[in-house]
Amino acid sequence: MYLQRATGRHLCAGHLAEEVEGRVRETMAADGMPPGGSRVAVALSGGKDSTVLLSLLHGITQESGGLDLVAITVDEGIAGYREETLRAATATAARFGVPHRTGSFADLFGGTLDRVVEGQEHRACSLCGILRRKALTILARDEGADCIATGHNLDDEAQSVLMNWLRGDRDRLLRDPLQPGQRGFLPRFKPLREIPEKEVALYGVIASLFSPMPECPYRHTALRGEARAMLNAMEQRFPGTLERVVQGQRTLARGAAGGIPAPLGACARCGDPASDHLCQACRLLEGGSFRPVRHR
Ligand code: SF4
Ligand code: ZN
Repeated sequence: MYLQRATGRHLCAGHLAEEVEGRVRETMAADGMPPGGSRVAVALSGGKDSTVLLSLLHGITQESGGLDLVAITVDEGIAGYREETLRAATATAARFGVPHRTGSFADLFGGTLDRVVEGQEHRACSLCGILRRKALTILARDEGADCIATGHNLDDEAQSVLMNWLRGDRDRLLRDPLQPGQRGFLPRFKPLREIPEKEVALYGVIASLFSPMPECPYRHTALRGEARAMLNAMEQRFPGTLERVVQGQRTLARGAAGGIPAPLGACARCGDPASDHLCQACRLLEGGSFRPVRHR
């Protein structure tokens, strides 16, 4: 039994799998993705998230048809890590009978990530992220794809929000990532964006999708590692934190699109600043179980 701490529910393997599949379908429907007949480039790193993503998209395609999948793996050139995950990616694509295209930083940009980050290893993930995004777009275009699907999960999304706060990146914080215009010319979709990393991994175990994989040696060098540790600790103590962080940023971005919030008014009862008819304290005390606030 898996305890979904954010909801307090206990789920057996079958129900967890059903729930993950249901949420992916809902997310895809909400994002309007992708219309029937679309050629979808699935970013397949060979890690857990992308393996689960390919399996789910393959299942959905089998059921309802219409999607033309092509798996794309980018070889960043990370010694001791990429060789094995590349083999896993090839095996996963073959297992689902999905055509597989690989491309490397070395071929596309003239150098491996290991070489690019020499002497600035702490920047590995940001450099890797920028170049991989570019590589994916080039390869997906080359494959005639209409859109790109990536395996970002809820934890990844929450980490990105926290990192934007920590960097003081106002523009990113105020941009609604779900607006179609934010997805770029080759639209990008994240069907797993509502599912916590832990549940994605459990789904993969239930569906016997993977065996243990090496971790990228740069994984713990970056701000993302710190953001992950902080959020995991918060999620442990206050279940639902990940979701609230992500939802909070979307609410903020949508609010920003609607203009600056109105200045605070005065509470009708006590005259203190209030965003509503009553201030928060007067609203709380209105129930009558406390002594009323003195009127002005
Ligand atoms: Fe690239 Fe960082 Fe991921 Fe390693 S952990 S593959 S360096 S983004
Ligand atoms: Zn008041």
